[in-house]
Amino acid sequence: MATVTLDNLRKEFDNGRIVAVDDISLDVADGEFVTVVGPSGCGKSTTLRMIAGLESPTSGSIHFGDEDVTDVHARKRDVAMVFQNYALYPHKTVEQNMAFGLRMSTDLSKEERRERVRETAEMMGIENLLDDRPDELSGGQKQRVALGRAIVREPDVFLFDEPLSNLDAKLRTTMRTEIQRLQNELGITAIYVTHDQEEAMTMGDRIAILNGGELQQVGAPKEVYND
Ligand code: ADP
Ligand code: ADP
Repeated sequence: MATVTLDNLRKEFDNGRIVAVDDISLDVADGEFVTVVGPSGCGKSTTLRMIAGLESPTSGSIHFGDEDVTDVHARKRDVAMVFQNYALYPHKTVEQNMAFGLRMSTDLSKEERRERVRETAEMMGIENLLDDRPDELSGGQKQRVALGRAIVREPDVFLFDEPLSNLDAKLRTTMRTEIQRLQNELGITAIYVTHDQEEAMTMGDRIAILNGGELQQVGAPKEVYND
């Protein structure tokens, strides 16, 4: 479990001609679900990528608990990220896709890994897909596998980058509920990026509104949208 603290986090591109993230500060509590919402180009992905350690900040800091993880080369941070395009390995089976993340991040035996993958697959309702390859799955099933692969590692922090935008409206609603249930059950701190206000409202304990790289407002859904 972990708190996530962003302090004056900034990211410039093109020698400062583009300010993608403009000195944002945000405290995410242990086990909290924070959604980050704003229009395309407002800096959501860049913020998330810095938290994930995929992009180095220009200035400011990122802490997980007491640990400074600002530098991309900092201690391997315990995050699992779920992407819009699923990012599954096409040549691996569902089981191998799920087990792969486990192998990279834990010292479980092969048998224990197998057991963990099976338990998680059952929790996600994908136990009958374990031998399939991604191209045999529907979009919704792929997203379940991507979620399962993130959850199986029991990370400190979940990072979601518009995970539901490729799904149809009905499935999106189902998966929202599912993600919330899992996050709640597991108590894992979650930061969830979306351009969809309704999604941000229904899913977040708190909502952070980004605009032009700046953090405009942070609060519970009814505080933020009653103004
Ligand atoms: P969002 O996720 O909200 O759509 P992004 O974080 O992707 O926004 O982008 C924020 C801004 O930074 C945009 O103006 C985008 O074009 C710019 N940007 C993102 N990545 C790069 C990059 N690697 N090089 C230059 N500009 C970038
Ligand atoms: P999203 O809108 O989901 O953030 P994008 O298509 O904007 O995704 O960005 C995809 C990739 O392209 C990211 O790695 C981002 O850093 C990079 N990127 C985005 N905008 C620019 C830009 N103006 N110049 C160079 N790279 C960019």
